Amino acid sequence: MPTLAIEPPPAVTLPVAGSDLVFPVRRVYCIGRNYAAHTIEMGGDPDREEPFFFQKNPDNLNVSGEFPYPPRSSDVHHEAELAVMLKSGGVNIPVDGALDHVYGYALALDMTRRDLQGEKKSLRQPWEIGKAFEGSAPVGPVHPASRVGHPTDGRIALEVNGEIRQEGDLNHMIWKVPEIISYLSDYFELAGGDVILSGTPSGVAAVARGDVMELEVDRLGAMTVRVV
Ligand code: MN
Repeated sequence: MPTLAIEPPPAVTLPVAGSDLVFPVRRVYCIGRNYAAHTIEMGGDPDREEPFFFQKNPDNLNVSGEFPYPPRSSDVHHEAELAVMLKSGGVNIPVDGALDHVYGYALALDMTRRDLQGEKKSLRQPWEIGKAFEGSAPVGPVHPASRVGHPTDGRIALEVNGEIRQEGDLNHMIWKVPEIISYLSDYFELAGGDVILSGTPSGVAAVARGDVMELEVDRLGAMTVRVV
């Protein structure tokens, strides 16, 4: 057993709702522009775009109930999303049967430095600094599919300070969860512990310190996150 050269970084785990279990995180994949109305508001064409992905870091997942407003940005947007947690993976996973790899689901926010993302897009540079920053993925407890099933439809909504900002239905996803898993597995080897953020409905907008975001998805309850 080799001796560690430095203190090991803490393992990233998420609480499993209604139990003492925790879900260990391996990777975090996020799909862009996966609801037609949001694709249009971001200037895209919902009929013709291939899915595209970016990643956040496992330790960007944030269960604290607080979102720390990041430095170097003055336009930080909320994106309300359904997160999918895998219990197993592989490569070239067919769409039929892809859901067999799902452990469960959670509420998540893909917080975005929209100003920096836009600058990097216009420079044709990668936009990690717009997406993969500290605390940038507030997430709720994991609801096992064995208890909640596989939510393919149902309301997804986000209120800020009690006012509705985002509202959509999970069945408006352009690429459905089994298709996302299958597509990703053609490019990456997926594995248990992987987390996939499945995109956001329209209505993304800026937050400010002191705002209270409340995300709700049918069958998964609600999550409250304060911007600090
Ligand atoms: Mn997103």
